[in-house]
Formats: sequence, C-alpha cells, structure tokens
Amino acid sequence: MHDFGIMGMTLPHYDTDRCVSCGACVKACTRKSVSALETLNYKVVRDAKKCIGCGECVLNCPTGAWARSHEKYFRLTLFGRTGKKNPRLGEDFIKWADEDSITKIICNTYDYVKNYIDPSAPGGKEHIGYIVDRTGFEEFKRWALKEVHLPAKAEISTPIYWKGISY
Ligand code: SF4
Ligand code: SF4
Repeated sequence: MHDFGIMGMTLPHYDTDRCVSCGACVKACTRKSVSALETLNYKVVRDAKKCIGCGECVLNCPTGAWARSHEKYFRLTLFGRTGKKNPRLGEDFIKWADEDSITKIICNTYDYVKNYIDPSAPGGKEHIGYIVDRTGFEEFKRWALKEVHLPAKAEISTPIYWKGISY
C-alpha cells in the first residue's frame, strides 16, 4: 500500500553436485513463495519466469546447494494507497532492477510530481497516485525512466492497471 514498494531480490544459483534431493527447497518455495521449483529426475528445476527472487530456497537448503547471486536486484511496485474511499494495492513496475536505477527513478519521480501536481488541490497536496491517474501511466513512465539504464535482466510491466476499491 506504499507509493513505492522496494523489495530486495536475489538470483538463486543451483549447484547440482551439492543437492541431495531432500525436497526442502521445493517445499519452502511452494509453501512460502510462488511454487517456482519442482523436482525432476532427482534434481531441482527453477521456473525463471515464476521466480520472484525471495531467497527462501537458499535459506531452506541444508547442504548449501542454493546460493545467492553476488549482484543485488530489486523489485519496484508502484502507487498503492490506504484511505477509506479508494484504497488499492501497489502493482509491479520493474523486477530485477539494480540499485542505481531505483535511485534514479525516485529522483525522476520528484521531477514528474513537480511538473504535474495540481497547485489548487486542498492544502496544495495531491497524492501521486491521483496525479498518475490524471496524466496516464505512460506519461509517468516516460519521466520515471529518463536516463535510467536498467540491467539486461530487468523486466518492465506495462501497462499497469490498478483495480482499487471504491466505497
Ligand atoms: S528465490 Fe524464491 S521464488 Fe525463486 S526459486 Fe527460490 S524460493 Fe522460489
Ligand atoms: S533443499 Fe537443497 S539439497 Fe534439498 S532438494 Fe533443494 S537444493 Fe537439493
């Protein structure tokens, strides 16, 4: 429900030689995460499309067959909000982003707000989610990604649709 939700991600590396096929990682990923692992021929296979880089497999492997990547990645969700009238959950914008890109996107967002905020809004304040509703997400994206150099692995979700709940 935050404007910006920034979550750390890791790219888990699998060492077949260390794996004893106990199934603990598959169980952990299924119970605590997104079911991205399965056992095939006594070895573990990761579905890269499903994996959210949470690291539960690493934490739950008793033999160290899973290891975190040296690179640190981040997932950025956008424009959730609380409120009695129209709360909504943030939606994924970028997965597998690097720290510099996240920092730059935040700085760019300040520029976007400065440019588009409605000065006649009550108290001179307008929640960014409403500004984006007004300008359209594509315009926000154009500002947010200015001079941002994402790693090749990064995935951008677009368009984003926030369902929200109106009371
Ligand atoms: S990092 Fe998380 S989602 Fe990815 S395989 Fe491991 S437990 Fe599953
Ligand atoms: S928890 Fe470790 S040892 Fe057990 S199946 Fe998974 S990778 Fe192999």
